[in-house]
Amino acid sequence: MDMPVPDDQGWDFEPHLCRTCRGRIMSRTDGDTVEYRCASCGNRAIGQPEDVCCCGVTWGTHGHILTCQKNPAKGPQVPQEYVAKGELPKRERGSQKRRTNPVHLPGSMFE
Ligand SMILES: [Zn+2]
Ligand SMILES: [Zn+2]
Repeated sequence: MDMPVPDDQGWDFEPHLCRTCRGRIMSRTDGDTVEYRCASCGNRAIGQPEDVCCCGVTWGTHGHILTCQKNPAKGPQVPQEYVAKGELPKRERGSQKRRTNPVHLPGSMFE
């Protein structure tokens, strides 16, 4: 059911990186549909870049959450314009002990 869409026209670069190969994600609008595609490996998604980019991807043993962002230290060592930066989930701040996220387990006998 492949439609013969001209694959090389109308793409704009997005500030996102492919979660598979770290290539740049491009987007193209077709009517109501926005299509996202990796410039390098051809990964595709319809509707939102988060389906193919690094945003929200859990990385490494500590569970860093990746976010695509402009490279803050662009230079010879990291020449890419955009990078996927990992941050630990904001859970342990240390100074405040507010419980803002109560969990209710069905049938739980514990509080
Ligand atoms: Zn890719
Ligand atoms: Zn992204």
